Amino acid sequence: MLREFRTLIPFVKRYRWWYVGGILSLIVTDSAQLLVPQFVKRAIDIIASGPFPLQQILPYAFLIVGVAVVTSLGRFCWRNLILGVSIRIETELRSKLYLHLQTLSSTFYGGQKIGDLMARFTNDMKSIRMSTGWALTALVDGLFMTTAIVIILLSQDSGLAILTICPLPLITLFIVFFGRAIGPKFLKVQEGFSSLSEVAQESLSGVRVLKTFVQEAASVRRFARTNEEYCRRHMSLIRIWGVMFPMVAFLSGITILILLLFGGRAVMEGRISPGDFAAFLAYLNMLVWPMVGAGFTVNMIQRGSASLGRINRILEAKADIKNLAKARKSFAGGTIEIRDLTYRYPGASKPVLDGISLEIPEGKIVGILGRTGSGKSTLVKLLPRLLDPPAGTVFIGGRDVRSYDLQALRSKIGVVLQDPFLFSTSIHANIGFAQRDMDKELIHRMGDISTIARDLKLFPDGFDTVVGERGITLSGGQKQRVTLSRALAIDPLILILDDAFSSVDTETEDAILRGLVEYLHGRTMLHGRTVLIISHRISTLKMSDLIVVLEQGKIVQQGTHDKLIRQEGFYQEIYNIQQLADSRQGGV
Ligand code: ATP
Ligand code: MG
Repeated sequence: MLREFRTLIPFVKRYRWWYVGGILSLIVTDSAQLLVPQFVKRAIDIIASGPFPLQQILPYAFLIVGVAVVTSLGRFCWRNLILGVSIRIETELRSKLYLHLQTLSSTFYGGQKIGDLMARFTNDMKSIRMSTGWALTALVDGLFMTTAIVIILLSQDSGLAILTICPLPLITLFIVFFGRAIGPKFLKVQEGFSSLSEVAQESLSGVRVLKTFVQEAASVRRFARTNEEYCRRHMSLIRIWGVMFPMVAFLSGITILILLLFGGRAVMEGRISPGDFAAFLAYLNMLVWPMVGAGFTVNMIQRGSASLGRINRILEAKADIKNLAKARKSFAGGTIEIRDLTYRYPGASKPVLDGISLEIPEGKIVGILGRTGSGKSTLVKLLPRLLDPPAGTVFIGGRDVRSYDLQALRSKIGVVLQDPFLFSTSIHANIGFAQRDMDKELIHRMGDISTIARDLKLFPDGFDTVVGERGITLSGGQKQRVTLSRALAIDPLILILDDAFSSVDTETEDAILRGLVEYLHGRTMLHGRTVLIISHRISTLKMSDLIVVLEQGKIVQQGTHDKLIRQEGFYQEIYNIQQLADSRQGGV
């Protein structure tokens, strides 16, 4: 169980002095508290001895007040130190998790649910904080108080002490026994919470689809079921607690009973003074909290361990796409060369790309056509290593893409992915996403090229209009054009457009392509820009220097538009269909 805590060792080491300070303040607080029954005892003995002058007990009253001041100060200190550290550790661990998640590739995310990941950032972090803060406090507090009180009681009246303390180890045994059941149940609760976040997250982000298919009722049922299950699991945890607490109270009650029985008789027989009795009672009462605290500790450490386990499973996931030991920090583009590339998704039996060989000279525009599922998106994702190609298959500028530093490589390859994703900020910020303090002028230029600038008058605040989550308040074509501007804004050496005009009408598309070519040719480094365009439309592809036709992961045709329309094959087929559609439209 404690093995999971190894992740926290570096954090605890870093904050060890905080812990030392916190534990010292805790011990000072506890020691001061231990003095109180002694003062009470003296005062009661004075009172019990018959008439007495008031100033005789006044000093004790002041001492008790003094102790209160010390305990308050001590408590202030340990709370700030120990609980402060636990909050810091939680914060740092959360950052570490986030940082690690950023290094993991889409292969990892393919097997994860976002809701579950979010739960790890919130719920699990909370229980880790409890275990590094409160649990530690309860542990130290419990050990110190128990030892000290047992020694004090034994020294006061060993017979009575042994009798009254006897039931207390039962509490500990009891807690250990029940504690064992708590760990797995708590893990179940956390998992239940994860499913709950998953269901909520998925249905809320897919709410439009839900509505389209009138599945609201089903979705509500599904949520209710998950919620119900969470409740059930939580209740079964609470039930254990429900048994545990009264039992602890019961056992400590027995202690008091024994004290009344034997201690009362001892007072009557004059073996101990009434003050001794009062002190005994006070100390026994003070012992109950550490016993309950032990329960808390066991519980919190088990929860913390369960949660840490969930965090550790993610931290253990290795970044499968990463820099080599001696990665090249600079990337200057160049000829793209693909040599006998076969690619298979992890876990898949059949390769999606099969023996692809292709050379794309710098500065050329290459079109890619192919039936859906033929492997087009997969192919282009290998260039910026969004997927990792096998070694020795994909080269840019004469070097294996795997030898480049990921950041250097990706920051010079502009990608417009097939499903456009925008962040919920202004259009301006979306275009300048990869740049800090991007020049307004440049943003406008990028907006002009993608022709999104034409639509600005439709938006309430122009470039400053904030788009909805994932860009939901924009039309499909508008989204695609913003993502195109975003890819252009990094001034890429290689530009990849994966079906980037699918939601744009042909006329606008034409304007974009003209703008794009003009922009690319207008650059001083004319030869630097290579463009890969994936499309199902001949109108998009025909201006390419080279067109490649993919079928089931293989290149089946390649050549220019003029060549391919004369060659029997998929390209010609599509060309004829689209020609026909065009002429029909023209005729209307
Ligand atoms: P489209 O024109 O529909 O965009 P595409 O040519 O871009 O199709 P790809 O996205 O490259 O096709 O997919 C090629 C094949 O790889 C498909 O059969 C698909 O099921 C499979 N595939 C795609 N992504 C993954 C993935 N992450 N894991 C496993 N298989 C995948
Ligand atoms: Mg695709």
